Amino acid sequence: HAKRLGRNRCVSFTAEMNQQMQQRINLETFLHGAVAAGQLQLVYQPKVSLHTGGIVGCEALLRWHHPQLGMIPPDQFIPVAEESGLIVPISAWVMRTACLQAKAWFDAGLPRTTVAVNISAYLLQQDLSVWTLDVLQETGLAPELLELELTESMIAQDVERTIGIFDRLTAVGIRLSIDDFGTGYSSLSYLKHLPVDTLKIDKSFVDNMLIRSEDEAIVRSVIRLAHSLKFKVVAEGVETAEQCDVLRAYRCDEIQGYYFSKPVSAQAFETLLREGTRLEISDTTMLPKIS
Ligand code: C2E
Ligand code: MG
Ligand code: MG
Ligand code: MG
Repeated sequence: HAKRLGRNRCVSFTAEMNQQMQQRINLETFLHGAVAAGQLQLVYQPKVSLHTGGIVGCEALLRWHHPQLGMIPPDQFIPVAEESGLIVPISAWVMRTACLQAKAWFDAGLPRTTVAVNISAYLLQQDLSVWTLDVLQETGLAPELLELELTESMIAQDVERTIGIFDRLTAVGIRLSIDDFGTGYSSLSYLKHLPVDTLKIDKSFVDNMLIRSEDEAIVRSVIRLAHSLKFKVVAEGVETAEQCDVLRAYRCDEIQGYYFSKPVSAQAFETLLREGTRLEISDTTMLPKIS
């Protein structure tokens, strides 16, 4: 079980390990009842267009509030959910809740917004397309308003079968994007065969973009590559005006990050939409010069 306890780490049977294992078992036990107990919540982080400054969509992010343990971040409990199989009922809840919410915003006549849901690689063991289409049917959300965020590791698994599932999803109008792009091992040759239309540049590159020229080069090349393959590019984890300006100069299409808004409750996101809150877009001539 060494693998369960942490990646890239050598472990020996120590008291610390026992404690970690115990914590993990507890987490799993608690997680079992979380959906039914209403302890899960979705928060929504806006995605903003760098072309217009307007909100174009949001990403639904999972939160778990346990009465005793407090707020447990997804990076801690998603792996537990995946290894225990609980990811299936949890993801079903996430998908249904996000679609119902987006349908409610649509019905309320708010400005058009897409909703993006993160998909765990473990869900590919089942036919994700059947499952997703059922939720759309049940909630009545237009497929064009649903986006699925996939990771590169998912794609490398069983390429033929995965492409089949993706094709069935995009055939009805659902959008697919690749999350945390650049951190996995996706072969560039897969990219052109995939029915994906968006790449999300990982936060780690955005973080270091203004500090390390290597990261700046990666960001710039990913944007170029994406555009020449007709993909849209979203930069995640944008925290400053400087990052925003450089990304605009590179013709990045959208940003998501604390600079515009942290993930917020459904109600707070609705207020942003209703009030037409937008990103201040500077004059293009004021953007940093790029060679
Ligand atoms: P992700 O899909 O890459 O989501 C982006 C993460 O970056 C979110 O963390 C978001 O809050 C954070 N973030 C966005 N902008 C900024 C910024 O400007 N600064 C900083 N420091 N952070 C920023 P969060 O919500 O903690 O989620 C972490 C990861 O957990 C997600 O990464 C995703 O992989 C996973 N996750 C979240 N919700 C779900 C879900 O419903 N299902 C699955 N399978 N995974 C989920
Ligand atoms: Mg994501
Ligand atoms: Mg991401
Ligand atoms: Mg990320």
